[in-house]
Amino acid sequence: MTPFLLSQVANSGDTMLVITYAGKDLHFDMDKSIGWISLGMPFKVTKAEGKHLIELDGKPAAEVYEKFLQIDRKKHNNAEEAFEFPLMAVQNGEERLRSVVHIEEDGSFWLHGFVKEGMHIHLTYGDPTNIVGIVNERLEAMRTFKPQVILLYSCVVRKTFWEDFVDMEMKPFARLCSTCGFHTWGEILRNKRTGELDENNITMLSIGMREGDAPAEDLPEVRVDDTVLQGQASVLRRLTRLVSTTMEELQKAHSRLTYLAERDALTGIYNRGKIEHLIDKALKSGGIASLVMVDLDFFKRVNDRNGHDVGDSVLREIAGIFQDSVRDYPGAQIGRWGGEEFFILLPRVDEEKAAAFAEALRRTVDTHVFPAVGHLTISQGVITVHDYKDQKQVYIQVDDALYKAKKAGRNRVEQAASLDGEA
Ligand code: GH3
Ligand code: MG
Ligand code: MG
Repeated sequence: MTPFLLSQVANSGDTMLVITYAGKDLHFDMDKSIGWISLGMPFKVTKAEGKHLIELDGKPAAEVYEKFLQIDRKKHNNAEEAFEFPLMAVQNGEERLRSVVHIEEDGSFWLHGFVKEGMHIHLTYGDPTNIVGIVNERLEAMRTFKPQVILLYSCVVRKTFWEDFVDMEMKPFARLCSTCGFHTWGEILRNKRTGELDENNITMLSIGMREGDAPAEDLPEVRVDDTVLQGQASVLRRLTRLVSTTMEELQKAHSRLTYLAERDALTGIYNRGKIEHLIDKALKSGGIASLVMVDLDFFKRVNDRNGHDVGDSVLREIAGIFQDSVRDYPGAQIGRWGGEEFFILLPRVDEEKAAAFAEALRRTVDTHVFPAVGHLTISQGVITVHDYKDQKQVYIQVDDALYKAKKAGRNRVEQAASLDGEA
């Protein structure tokens, strides 16, 4: 039988210690626990070389720490202060933390672990409640695995974070079986999904090993005893709770504001600013796209005869019809341009399909019975672009096509000449 191999790598400077475990029927269960929580909006790594993080969002990386954490790059112990607020990037679906080892006068950082340009990273902080919860989950997994021995490797940052309570998160493992291990500068663990070796920071690695099948009898249920947290640690726990709840509430308010800033208050579809932005984005990304400009026919009459409120309800109803009409058009976007004019953006839709779409929509509205006003029609201008990026010309031509549809008697579709960026 091929022996199962488990290697651990303790890396210190130029030397490397490799311990290999082998056994005829060796089973192991290994995972990492972190528990640090990301703080605020992400920053983009705009300049980095390996472990040297130079710029975040186009500015010296240290500016983030100066602004949010008051950590002055000129102070000699700056890295010590930054140490407990590592950066987190999600890579291959996994959280990777990177602590700051040294801050240069130019505002760049040396990190314990690499970063790559283009990555989005967050500031993080240790939240005692969350850390305890994560470690408890790991303890439960380990209890189910039923190890005979557990190796524990915990980052020194966890030691500085917990101070006097450093044993609190490690001791419970010893109630399951024998444990051994030490504090580390960087932890290496094989990624369960990719099989690659991941470089970690701020983690506690727990590796359970067992020879042969798991015994029938259960191991005791063990949990972290966090009632021992007192004094500063207890204050910290409450403060981090305050930060995380405030952040959650701010994020909810932010999502709500973003929603409102992009929506038309009457119909709930995108407003002019947002649909223009989406059209611009679609044009910039190249390829084929079609744009339909819709105007309600003789809408002024609807208001004049039935009042403004009825007019409003018709606008809401028609926006619903537009939404239904794009169900089978992936990536389609609808926006109110203003008044009773709308835009429908159809990515990857050519001239023929765009004409068919607009004709079907014309017929749907023409045959729809609006409870308040009965019959209503729309006129449409349609344009198709091929790698064409000039927004202004697109609007001029589609508006022109709509005008032609009106002139030709309304309840019609008029197609503008296609625009081709290659020509
Ligand atoms: P045409 O066929 O030439 O487009 O005729 P029309 O009457 O639709 O065009 P016109 O531009 O003369 O009138 C547009 C009307 O749309 C005028 C305005 O009262 C109405 N309208 C614009 N925005 C709203 C709105 O938010 N609510 C309501 N109820 N009416 C609106
Ligand atoms: Mg109009
Ligand atoms: Mg009109």
